[in-house]
Amino acid sequence: GDSFLSVQDLHVSFSTEDGTVKAVDGLSFEVEKGTTLGIVGESGSGKSVTNLAILGLHNTEHAEIGGEIWFEDQELVGASRTTLERLRGNQIAMIFQDPLTALSPFHTVGRQIGEVYRKHKGASKREARDRAIEMLDRVGIPNARVRVDDYPHHFSGGMRQRVMIAMALVCDPSLVIADEPTTALDVTVQAQILDLLKDLQDQMGTSIILITHDLGVVAQAAHNVLVMYAGRAVERGTVREVLGAPRHPYTWGLLSSAPRLGSSVDVPLKPVRGTPPSLLNPPSGCRFHPRCDYLKQVGPDLCSTEQPELSPETGHADACYLTLKQKQEIYTELMEGR
Ligand code: SF4
Ligand code: MG
Repeated sequence: GDSFLSVQDLHVSFSTEDGTVKAVDGLSFEVEKGTTLGIVGESGSGKSVTNLAILGLHNTEHAEIGGEIWFEDQELVGASRTTLERLRGNQIAMIFQDPLTALSPFHTVGRQIGEVYRKHKGASKREARDRAIEMLDRVGIPNARVRVDDYPHHFSGGMRQRVMIAMALVCDPSLVIADEPTTALDVTVQAQILDLLKDLQDQMGTSIILITHDLGVVAQAAHNVLVMYAGRAVERGTVREVLGAPRHPYTWGLLSSAPRLGSSVDVPLKPVRGTPPSLLNPPSGCRFHPRCDYLKQVGPDLCSTEQPELSPETGHADACYLTLKQKQEIYTELMEGR
């Protein structure tokens, strides 16, 4: 189909002094060409680790990875360092929360953007500089011809984020991974940056994985959404499906902490009590069960002993033993009770 990134049964674990952390435990998802998948969850849900795995940054002696990641026609889990280095920054690019982690303070933005272009495209210095100016212009930096010689600290937070987007897109990658790209910005600038990403996506046909803890960001910028909890996917669907008719108790909880969403979901629904579990020793059964208020409606034994699976078909799906009818009734009640 149109899917050009396919993650199948991904497992990522790390050895620590305290034991093995299962950061991602049996995760599958797809990204369609030219669309944005929002991956949502609290910190420790495995959402960032998943994306580091796609970039091949998990290949350290302390990490173990299993499953398959298909990007176009290449399998990335078993790929060589050389293959991954050829892809990174070129066909797959990354945008971080803090541009200063990606940009060096010691070089002009033009030189940094240009160097990525030279490395992957074998361009001359002159061509790389022209390309840097073109990219700064495309991301909405006024006076790009002059600003190309400025250093990162000469730019405001929002403008710096634009510079990083210019650097990420300089080689026209087919996939961009954006990890909390707007979290550090105020709401107005955040909206501008998300709009910019959308515009660039329309122009360049880029697919985007947008990692965030904020469903408001997903509502504004994503087509599809994957909700993660404790290293597993708990709900998946289009933004309209998941935000309009959420089915998983954890998703109901996330909606309650998204104050910037549109009017339909901007009032607390049902905050999640407790804290995310340790991935050193995750809960048995449904990993959400220690925080869930609906075990009794399922029969508590099932939730605490058997791990619910996300149904493998495409479309709106969730990993919870409640019946669809129960989910719809509970959600309706929560909406009415606000
Ligand atoms: Fe709650 Fe059980 Fe559903 Fe898990 S499977 S979310 S514990 S009702
Ligand atoms: Mg993170």
